[in-house]
Amino acid sequence: MMYTQTKANQRQPGREEAASSVRACFFCVLRVSMASVCAPKFLFCLVLWHFNSLPPCQGKQMWYEEQYPFIRNASSFSSPPSISTTSTSNAYDYIIVGGGTAGCPLAATLSQNFSVLLLERGGVPFTNSNVTFLNNFHISLTDTSPNSASQYFCSTDGVHNARARILGGGSSINAGFYTRASPRFIEKVGWDVVLVNQSYPWVEKRIVHRPKFSPYQAAVRDSLLDSGVSPFNGFTYDHIYGTKVGGTTFDRFDRRHTAAELLASGNPDKLTVLVYATVQKIVFEDKGKIPKAIGVIFKDENGRQHEAILGNDRHSEVIVSSGAIGTPQLLMLSGIGPKAELQNLNITVVLDNPFVGKGMVDNPMNTIFVPTNRPLNQSLIQTVGITKFGVYIEASSGFSQSSDSIHCHHGMLSAEIGQLSTIPPKQRSKEAIKAFLENKRDIPIEAFRGGFILSKVASAWSAGELRLNNTNVEDNPIVTFNYFSHPYDLQRCVEGIRLATKVVQSQCFTNYTLCDRKTTEKLLNLSVKANVNLIPKNANDTKSLEQFCRDTVITIWHYHGGCHVGKVVSSDYKVVGVDRLRVVDGSTFAESPGTNPQATLMMMGRYMGLKILRERLGKLAGI
Ligand SMILES: Cc1cc2nc3c(=O)[nH]c(=O)nc-3n(C[C@H](O)[C@H](O)[C@H](O)COP(=O)(O)OP(=O)(O)OC[C@H]3O[C@@H](n4cnc5c(N)ncnc54)[C@H](O)[C@@H]3O)c2cc1C
Repeated sequence: MMYTQTKANQRQPGREEAASSVRACFFCVLRVSMASVCAPKFLFCLVLWHFNSLPPCQGKQMWYEEQYPFIRNASSFSSPPSISTTSTSNAYDYIIVGGGTAGCPLAATLSQNFSVLLLERGGVPFTNSNVTFLNNFHISLTDTSPNSASQYFCSTDGVHNARARILGGGSSINAGFYTRASPRFIEKVGWDVVLVNQSYPWVEKRIVHRPKFSPYQAAVRDSLLDSGVSPFNGFTYDHIYGTKVGGTTFDRFDRRHTAAELLASGNPDKLTVLVYATVQKIVFEDKGKIPKAIGVIFKDENGRQHEAILGNDRHSEVIVSSGAIGTPQLLMLSGIGPKAELQNLNITVVLDNPFVGKGMVDNPMNTIFVPTNRPLNQSLIQTVGITKFGVYIEASSGFSQSSDSIHCHHGMLSAEIGQLSTIPPKQRSKEAIKAFLENKRDIPIEAFRGGFILSKVASAWSAGELRLNNTNVEDNPIVTFNYFSHPYDLQRCVEGIRLATKVVQSQCFTNYTLCDRKTTEKLLNLSVKANVNLIPKNANDTKSLEQFCRDTVITIWHYHGGCHVGKVVSSDYKVVGVDRLRVVDGSTFAESPGTNPQATLMMMGRYMGLKILRERLGKLAGI
């Protein structure tokens, strides 16, 4: 594996975690006080530092436990005597698997009227400094310890990737950009527009902010307009052609808010959230015409197995919200999927469905590194250019500016220009990487100064698949995205790179970076040398934009699919061919919504919760 562990294992809220919170806050306090800026920020950091540095003592409540009394460790769960028991005591109306971006708002909404058990394999985000602070975005991604918030995986394409393993899911490890889907998307998926327009604001008023607009992002905005991506649509959540500034889940203190906070709107009397609860399989009863979900088996943080069961009501359901990688994987491990593949791993087939795990799509992204002669703050995505030719241009800046980061490593958007390339891909042994990381300590800070222009192909047409690697749910399945296997994606990537270089070469940008206007070849060469993936490079990478696209493709982590509507689930997201089982998450999407998907996934959780309440209660739901 390419990256080494840099941070203390964040699994259990305890001494190590408190120590890393203290460290992060100490740096925050130090940096802010040294710069003598903005007194409120300084005070805020001081309060945080104080909070996080309180010694963790046995039996003492964590601060979040007051606000979220229904969140507990999985080991506290007392199982019913047997899953085959028909008794309904200790049974739930809904069992949701995956406390992620869609799962949390869904659980909060359903708990208004029904008992809900939400099972999440990761821990809580609230006390995790890697998750909480914007400056730790890339550090979180490169933490490969066994229970880190972000689980590393590499697709067979050779592209590094990450999936969430924490309450809040992707919203706890992502870049925070918040922007709604286009009306065309909503129409295509057939959602009720009125309910959609009620559900987005429910999310927004709880956890979404207007970004503190950084000078780098302002330069990107001006350069996009200069390059013809117009008009300027100002600050808006809406998906409109032209250039805009979107929302963010980071507040003005650069502190992250996640889908986990939406649980605060749940009904504490009816909601139970278990963390470190890894669901191993869904259990079915096959007495009737079709198999019926009756519960799940999960493992707690001590490795003990438990069974959670659904009530007898015909409306009770297991709802899988484990994300585009976790959901098809869990369905297959539970016996729903391509028969031959399941039988190869000795999994009892509940339902033969060849489409589970098919149609996996990741929007290809290529980046251009922009060196600057100006000190840069870290900024994640704030500005976006929405073109009419199916490409989105976004930007980020200032990774690795802190000395802490420099001596760690820099994630997928590596700014180690020209450094890692000194080790040819096939010779990247563990020892060689270790030696590289050690040598890197001597690299001057200027070598890391810069930003990125990101070019994302919207609604990619190339698709791949997900297959099981083994029967251990904790291991990543085998994922292939087949980037650029469809010529239309490659054509759009080329157009996107042309536009991205135009943006970087625009006078507005060079005025900002204080750098000379570089030739396209020089700019592309910086990205080729960064070796951002495991794909072999070619001599004509800077001459042929097609080759550049193929060889420098990375992910923007907007992968989706694997349980498509019409193939694996019906239009109301019920799994076809079985009873009392639904899927609500990004695995159901045929394309990624908006320029970035998290807004629509959180909205989907709320929307589906309201839909289900309506279906079940009619007017009594009061919606
Ligand atoms: C690094 C990164 C940056 C991104 N940046 C942005 C951005 O700036 N803006 C944006 O809009 N989108 C962004 N995205 C994409 C967005 O965050 C995801 O598309 C979205 O979060 C997916 O939501 P989901 O509900 O489908 O799955 P998730 O949010 O991934 O939720 C799945 C949950 O299920 C849990 N789970 C899985 N298997 C099991 C199991 N067997 N038992 C129990 N629990 C299980 C997981 O731990 C996880 O919490 C980014 C994603 C990443 C990874």
